[in-house]
Amino acid sequence: DMKRINLSFLMFVIAVTVMADDTVVSPDGRLNVCVNNKNGMPVYSVSYDGKFVLTESRLGLVANYADFSKNLKLKDVQREDNVVKDYYMINTKQNKFHYVSNKMDLIFENKDGHCMTVAFCVANNSVAFRYELQKPNNEKGIPLSAVILKETTSFRLAEAATSFLCQQSLPMVGFARTKPSYEETYEADVPVAQRKSNSKQGFTFPCLFRIPDGDINYWALVSETGVTSNYCGSRLSDYNQETGYSLLFPQEGENNGIGSVTPAVPVPSATPWRTITVGNSLKPIVETTVQFDVLDPLYETKYDYKPGRYTWSWILWGDSSMNWDDQVKFVDLASVMGYEYILVDALWDSRIGYEGIERLAKYAKGKNVELLLWYNSNGAVNDAPQGPHGVMNNCIARKRDMKWMQKIGVKGIKVDFFGGDKQQTMQLYEEILSDANEYGLQVIFHGCTLPRGWERLYPNFVASEAALASENMNFTNRFSRSEGFDMTLHPFCRNAVASFDWGGVFMNKRFSKNNKSRHPRYTSDIFELATAITNQTNVNCVAIMPNNLEDMPQHVLDFARNIPTTWQETQFIDGYPTKYCIIARKHDGHWYIGGLNGTDHPMTLTVNLPMLAGKIVKYYVDKPRRIIKQEDKENVDSYASELTSLKIDKSGNAKVTLQPLGGIIIVE
Ligand code: CA
Repeated sequence: DMKRINLSFLMFVIAVTVMADDTVVSPDGRLNVCVNNKNGMPVYSVSYDGKFVLTESRLGLVANYADFSKNLKLKDVQREDNVVKDYYMINTKQNKFHYVSNKMDLIFENKDGHCMTVAFCVANNSVAFRYELQKPNNEKGIPLSAVILKETTSFRLAEAATSFLCQQSLPMVGFARTKPSYEETYEADVPVAQRKSNSKQGFTFPCLFRIPDGDINYWALVSETGVTSNYCGSRLSDYNQETGYSLLFPQEGENNGIGSVTPAVPVPSATPWRTITVGNSLKPIVETTVQFDVLDPLYETKYDYKPGRYTWSWILWGDSSMNWDDQVKFVDLASVMGYEYILVDALWDSRIGYEGIERLAKYAKGKNVELLLWYNSNGAVNDAPQGPHGVMNNCIARKRDMKWMQKIGVKGIKVDFFGGDKQQTMQLYEEILSDANEYGLQVIFHGCTLPRGWERLYPNFVASEAALASENMNFTNRFSRSEGFDMTLHPFCRNAVASFDWGGVFMNKRFSKNNKSRHPRYTSDIFELATAITNQTNVNCVAIMPNNLEDMPQHVLDFARNIPTTWQETQFIDGYPTKYCIIARKHDGHWYIGGLNGTDHPMTLTVNLPMLAGKIVKYYVDKPRRIIKQEDKENVDSYASELTSLKIDKSGNAKVTLQPLGGIIIVE
């Protein structure tokens, strides 16, 4: 009879509803996120053009008042399609942003009636998701505060995936017990199951993965954004065949053991966003903006922060350059080059003094140069002895010094040697940034964590080190030798998600003041100049030395004088992480294309530059060069280069040759 048929039909509908995945696709329909409440445990997967990039991975967290990792009921799913956000920023890879996403909020209820939303934003090449703790479901609305004991968030890669990962360091090790500071080495293209961290502490964000499928490489860049004083920084565990990579909180010993590893948050509130940039080429990886798209500035600024270039004595002249005469030389160098800034590094407080810095700022001002000043971030979180010490970690001393800096015309600070990723450390970063903004100071961090969306959140944030950066090339031959590897990796990985203060563009042929002793620089002059395009930060170091004014060829000097640091657009042209990269960036209406060869072999390529089709453009290129291996010593035979012109054909193609550890620069 009719009644019975209707009932069984209804039961069938209910069964389908319970079993069905909830999916959200990107506006172009190619990127697909699929969520399922599997036996009360929420899981998700991510596919692109039907190819799984992430297979079934976990969602959820355990708070001290409620377990949102299991026994959950999916209460409601809310959707909003084609949500458009337009915004503007001057301090990153492009300046105008147009973010279109489809949103899906899944509201889960636990067995006690507490609710958590998993919020997804899916754009054409990116997924962002976070957890939102809802107002408690009881009469008193308690609790209003929570501790997040752990997250069950995981990332399980599709079979055959390879990884480009950097391990997390153990805490309180390395120079003056300052680690972890995101200064470990990457390993490239290792199958995920084979890559283990020596520290057994897993891997730092961002994490790059390649998923080969026939002729196509799919790519996924996993990171997080929107980490503020309201949470800790997280990382990925070692890979587990069953569960993939799990999201981990900081280690107990970080920050000298001070502060909790579990974040404490008000209720209601939200976790940071976890982001996955996905595509079937490296283009969306290099060009990703998801780390900014889902955030809004946390404060406004009344200051007009000035981008620019800085000279830096410490990188080759070391601690002994921390004296009046040498700093004057680097002010003069900045002035001759037309650079905006000089970075006065550690120990100025004891060797030049506050009064000396006032005089130096005045002297520099007369030369059209302004000062950036180094500070130690701590305190009591590690043994880094360099001064000024005990200023930036204390709000009274910090504001006193910031007020003084503003008075004497200092325009920024570089704060070094942080204690890790705990929420307590994130609070310190935020306090420094927020206070600095009161006094018109831009901020660079070193010895530090990955900045997670900070260019967007804090308008006076410039960049962080958070990489095994250029100082290591100076310290040891090994890292000078691996510069090609590093510089052709970071545009796809570390620098794709955040500005970084690499501290490069060296013109000395040897890592020494006299330019004759110690180990060589293996990369060519054009490679070095091109890193000023491929690397992105809006206040960029140019690690030239006073002697380079005499020994740089004229065309190199001229380009170095005119290095841009702000970009209207960024486009991936070609490349493969750790092998080569060609990146186009537009400044003031003109395209600048930087190409780097990270290998020891010449590389001839046809590059496609549709934006320059039919044009004749400036072309900086190396003369043929070789990496010479003699017994256990290595060197190069030439740094010679030339400025010539290049004809781009009507379809935008041009043939170029990148010398071993060499580069090209094309300027419209
Ligand atoms: Ca460092």
